[in-house]
Amino acid sequence: DSATKYEAPSSVPVGVDPSRASIARVYDAALGGKDNYEIDREVLDQVRRVAPEVNDLAWSNRNFLTRAVRFLSDQGGIRQFLDCGSGLPTAENTHQIAQRIDPETRVVYVDNDPVVIAHGQALLTDNDYTHFVSADIFRPDEVLNSELVRKHIDLTQPVGLLHVGTLHHYTKDNGRDLMKEYVDALPSGSFVAISHFFDPETPEHSALARKMEDIFVHSPMGSGMFRTRAQLMEFMPGLELIPPGPNKPADWELSDMWWPDGPKLRPLSQVEQCSAAAVGRKP
Ligand code: SAM
Repeated sequence: DSATKYEAPSSVPVGVDPSRASIARVYDAALGGKDNYEIDREVLDQVRRVAPEVNDLAWSNRNFLTRAVRFLSDQGGIRQFLDCGSGLPTAENTHQIAQRIDPETRVVYVDNDPVVIAHGQALLTDNDYTHFVSADIFRPDEVLNSELVRKHIDLTQPVGLLHVGTLHHYTKDNGRDLMKEYVDALPSGSFVAISHFFDPETPEHSALARKMEDIFVHSPMGSGMFRTRAQLMEFMPGLELIPPGPNKPADWELSDMWWPDGPKLRPLSQVEQCSAAAVGRKP
């Protein structure tokens, strides 16, 4: 079985099971990170058989996060971020992007993966404006009532709520009530940014989306839904959508009013057609 097939590395952090894939570590592997085990890389290898450019799914997501935080800090004037499902630290993290615009921007990261928690706490020891909470992001009450969130996020001032690359792992229902609970807690002028695996409902790319979903769901990672545009709208209850979302992150790049990243030098890969993002503002 998988427990005997995958040998534990000599030093495994407490609470980490190297015989089971973790969302955070699979994502780290797709971004070319080093904090992952063979079982995590095997999930990607399975998907790679039907989608050779599977890593693009992670990169289009991460590049969107960078642009969204820059946009919300710069044009949206956001000075406090609640980053749900922050993932392992990588080259550019939310606090580095936001604090480049204002060094006193507060960022609270939330995750429940033991490897993410260990790295997150190590990364943040020297930053008074950045904090890490261990909580279940699919239980908004747990996140919003946690001591550190209450202490460092002022819910009378606009907040940037990030659910980037997380909601495709939420499979209980359509997610409207989940996100409504978050949105209800935010004051007017707050923003919500999401990105998600996407079924673009075109004959060619829907088939690819369904194949990747089938592999993720039956892999040791256990989840990864590809939702349609109408399904993604359920995650944005009562929000004014910033054009052109929900749409492919690459389409946001093209909309240079919001995302001035310059012209695209190559066509989108098949996999990049299966990733979507949205940003909404609470009126
Ligand atoms: N937001 C980052 C980004 O876009 O680059 C990381 C995305 S990563 C694909 C998803 C993260 O969500 C992982 O770090 C995982 O541990 C976290 N996550 C998944 N389910 C969670 C839950 N129920 N509670 C807290 N964190 C969760």
